[in-house]
Amino acid sequence: MDFITIADKFKDHFKSIPRIFKAPGRVNLIGEHVDYNDGFVLPVAINNYTAVAMTPRQDRMLWIWSESMKELKKIDLDEITRKQNHWSDYIAGIAKLLELNGIKLTGANLLIESEIPIGAGLSSSAALEMSASLALLNSVDAALDSVKLAKLGQTVENQFVGTNCSVMDQFVSVHGEKDKALFLDCRTLNYELIALPSDDIKIVICNTQVKHELGESEYNKRRSECDAGVKIFKKSFANTRALRDVTIDQFNEIQDQMLPNIRMRCRHVINEIERTRLCADALKKKDLITFGKYMYESHNSLRDDYQVSCRELDVMVNIAAKQPGVLGARLTGVGFGGCTVNLVKTQNVGRFCEAIYTNYKKQTGIEPIIYISSAARGAAEFF
Ligand code: ADP
Ligand code: MG
Repeated sequence: MDFITIADKFKDHFKSIPRIFKAPGRVNLIGEHVDYNDGFVLPVAINNYTAVAMTPRQDRMLWIWSESMKELKKIDLDEITRKQNHWSDYIAGIAKLLELNGIKLTGANLLIESEIPIGAGLSSSAALEMSASLALLNSVDAALDSVKLAKLGQTVENQFVGTNCSVMDQFVSVHGEKDKALFLDCRTLNYELIALPSDDIKIVICNTQVKHELGESEYNKRRSECDAGVKIFKKSFANTRALRDVTIDQFNEIQDQMLPNIRMRCRHVINEIERTRLCADALKKKDLITFGKYMYESHNSLRDDYQVSCRELDVMVNIAAKQPGVLGARLTGVGFGGCTVNLVKTQNVGRFCEAIYTNYKKQTGIEPIIYISSAARGAAEFF
């Protein structure tokens, strides 16, 4: 991503020189389907960014050009009521919520440029929300606490756009740091940045290029199965507020009282939360072998207990597991398609990508897309 190119494009559209703000996409290394169970997650911000270039306007209009959509959208700040089912909803929602939080905006000219694939599960939406937030805040010389900013983005997704995402996406897009993974407690939002140096290890993201239809309804089903699990645990262990509060011993003690589906879902969540904690410890000790081992366990648990994998994801992980220099591989995101995340020794990355491309295509007939990344810096002004 290049400052001059974006500034030039902005000049073509708006005849002035902008300030530019950028925010990264993200990938979750481990801690899957535990966010809505008050668990722990361990994402990194990735090297793919969305940039929003901005100059203030005198009126109350947002003029937004998206390079990805090749479309100009004009929004009146006084007429944002509900979503329009349009890509600009994310920015309209952010603008509305900023004003509801007491930040009086003026109009702005905005240009969006992005290197994050849209809808691939790398959170192009959170990157857009966070980069646009910084642009809008700076258009009136205002600032907002970074945790509030992340929560604001999540509120836009949940309440304005109507998508189910946890605050993890925005949180790491804002707080990510170069060569560090972010260990986040989804209950308290306490977090710790843990070194994950990029010299020896790369984070390789492989997009299966499939997205199975049942994803959303199955996601909602999983959430209610977890809720059902909490109710059962509560009867024996009164302090249970979420599956986060249940120990593995407690699970073993009463698992016979549960229907098979509920038991499997709870087993995944409780073990996955523990694995994520253990991965954070392993990372602190620079023990990536152990880290990788838990990634494979996570995948198996998502496949067998949580049942959110699919053939393409399993094929991708199985190919990865056979390659030299691969420490761990698993599906990442909600499942039923999307991406896998792989920890690969830098010296083996080239061969790894070749092997994934060739074998995945051979076994599925689909061409995968592969991104080589490392833990990157969070949202900031671009100079
Ligand atoms: P993702 O996994 O990439 O976050 P989502 O469906 O949550 O997928 O968000 C993608 C949506 O975000 C797009 O359909 C579009 O509405 C909006 N979006 C993301 N990036 C851009 C962009 N560069 N320009 C315009 N809209 C964008
Ligand atoms: Mg999204």
